[in-house]
Amino acid sequence: MQASVTPFDLPLLATSLAALPGVGPVTVRRLAGRELKSWGDALFFLPARYQDRRTPTPIAELSLGQLAVVQGRVVSSGVWGHKGKLYRLVLEDATGRLGCLWFRFKRAHLEGYGVDAELYAVGEVSQGPKGEMQLIHPELYRVEDVGPEHPSVGRVVPVYPEVEGVAPATLRRFMAEMMRRCDGQIPDPLAGMLPSDLYPHDAGEALARAHQPPHEAGPDDLDPSAAPWRGSLAVNELMYFELGLALKRRTRESASAAPLKPEGRLLARLLENLPFKLTPGQQEAIAAIEKDMSRGHPMGRLLAGDVGTGKTVVATAAMCLAVEAGAQAALMAPTEVLARQHLATLSAYLEPLGVRLALAVGGANGNNGAAIREAASGGAQVLVGTHALFSAKVEFAKLGLVIIDEQHRFGVHQRLALAAKGTRPHMLVLSATPIPRTLALALAGHLDLSDLPERPLGPQKVATRALEFEHRKAAVDELAKVLQRGEQAYVICPLVEASDKIEAQDAVATARRLDQYFPKHQVELLHGRMDGAEQQETLARFRDGESQVLVATTVVEVGVDVPAATLMIVLGAERFGLSQLHQLRGRVGRGAKPGACLLVAGPNPGELSARRLAVLASTSDGAEIAEADLYLRGPGEALGEKQSGLPPFRVARWEIDAELVPRLREIIAGWLKDDPEMKGKKLAAVRKEAVRRWGRRLGLVEAG
Ligand code: ADP
Ligand code: MG
Repeated sequence: MQASVTPFDLPLLATSLAALPGVGPVTVRRLAGRELKSWGDALFFLPARYQDRRTPTPIAELSLGQLAVVQGRVVSSGVWGHKGKLYRLVLEDATGRLGCLWFRFKRAHLEGYGVDAELYAVGEVSQGPKGEMQLIHPELYRVEDVGPEHPSVGRVVPVYPEVEGVAPATLRRFMAEMMRRCDGQIPDPLAGMLPSDLYPHDAGEALARAHQPPHEAGPDDLDPSAAPWRGSLAVNELMYFELGLALKRRTRESASAAPLKPEGRLLARLLENLPFKLTPGQQEAIAAIEKDMSRGHPMGRLLAGDVGTGKTVVATAAMCLAVEAGAQAALMAPTEVLARQHLATLSAYLEPLGVRLALAVGGANGNNGAAIREAASGGAQVLVGTHALFSAKVEFAKLGLVIIDEQHRFGVHQRLALAAKGTRPHMLVLSATPIPRTLALALAGHLDLSDLPERPLGPQKVATRALEFEHRKAAVDELAKVLQRGEQAYVICPLVEASDKIEAQDAVATARRLDQYFPKHQVELLHGRMDGAEQQETLARFRDGESQVLVATTVVEVGVDVPAATLMIVLGAERFGLSQLHQLRGRVGRGAKPGACLLVAGPNPGELSARRLAVLASTSDGAEIAEADLYLRGPGEALGEKQSGLPPFRVARWEIDAELVPRLREIIAGWLKDDPEMKGKKLAAVRKEAVRRWGRRLGLVEAG
């Protein structure tokens, strides 16, 4: 959610926390360190647990370790022990006596609680030197001062996650004050619109119950991971997101596109020439695409399938349909290397059929630019390239189909800019990262989904082993063996998201070391900062066997195909997503000989690393791996938040809540069926809130 959008349509929530009593500049700075700046942020700073301080426990019934509230009368009070280092106060109730002890204290303060004072003492029960129960450093409150609204006694008290330098009592106090000021003001258009088992509380009520549990709160309410209030807040977030996707889908479906309805001769010829038969999944996908493109509305379809499930043929089939219908097709790849490789594959399929293809990469260069423009304006029927394809100056004669490869690499915005150009083309998105199905549904909710479940060539098994940093020498030994056998290897250097410069340096240093270690072999370097031609030449030398070791960054992640490469070593493996590693290892063992992959952890891999990497060693099922990554790291990390376009929710968590999505969608579909424009008073408010929250991010063109 972008910073300028408050979580609810309540301008008050943009207010700085500094506006609350007891929040001075130092506290503001410390809170900011936890990303707590506005009231809207603090609203979702939810308690980690609760202390039940509702009823006092009789002294005789105290148990060790219990957080207890004791109500009693002071029977003695004064300094204690040698040299007056301790302070001791004894409380008595109808059932017994209890000592309270302080090691650090302000004497005058404690002396204020004299004999006969009626007090509440709140603290954890521990054991004294003679086995008796005691409280160390309890909080004390006079019974006469404790009214029904007291923040610390007679109620369930929220325990917030620790904020360094801000006392828990301070946090509690100003959070309570903020909640008081927001009371009854949080607008919730979903209130009363959803079944109560799904949405037991409206948003304001759910937040109030989270921060200030009511007196009658039951054990369920006090479990922050399962409370009904949590469910309501999660549904609130997911509902608007899903509605945003539904609106986006509707925008597409109501836009017009040129229907592409060829007889299918070109496609038939493509299929005749194939050395294999399509899998049922491929046939189904092609049939769905054919149907989509024949309509007068733009297709929006996601073709999801693990590496090697044969997405390229499906994409080529779609191109044949477009070309025969007199339109142009464009395929956009994430890197130049991939674009060139796609062009080679597509040319092999399409040139024999008389289709004219052109490459569009590196648009910065003037000559190149002119060539791209000429190809687009009529010279070519199929254009394959990078984002250069869609630079501002390129105008297509008749662009009918856009295919985007490796969808997760592109931000939502790039995709939108593309779709917005001229009349809307039909769009097919290829995703090689197997997205867990639940997530695919939720994320790509505005697209139709075609799955390729089977790998036509059978499962690809790459023997995979995880190595700790200390054992990295084993990887070099393995590399030596592979080279001895006359085979080739990739060495992948860690991805440093922040800077491809550092990334490149890492690869450079590794290449240099390996080059010294293997003087008889050619070690080459490939990274994203090299220019396209240089990358191509390097790759060509590796493919032709002139070099034997290719040290690379993740430019080789997808698509690169060198059958003689049998070993892949990944350095700093914990830095990669599991799905990404799975993709990477798919690069070896593509020829007759089996492949192997060594995942070498970095020096400080973190706790989860070993467990995560073990998943890869144990399975070669991409979907299973994606699922595991989702559970172990959460979707933002697993897919890379930037790349996935996945929104950062405050409460909802895909791994828990995604199962709700189908039900939410059904509800939304019902709404749209009855009132397609969402014009009715209640639905209009819901729609307006969805656009307010997601309009920019999802590119919902309609104004609220
Ligand atoms: P993806 O892009 O999904 O990773 P590709 O389209 O590159 O997969 O296909 C992987 C390999 O499988 C290619 O060599 C391709 O020629 C081959 N292939 C595709 N479909 C079939 C099929 N139905 N039967 C046999 N081989 C196929
Ligand atoms: Mg592919």
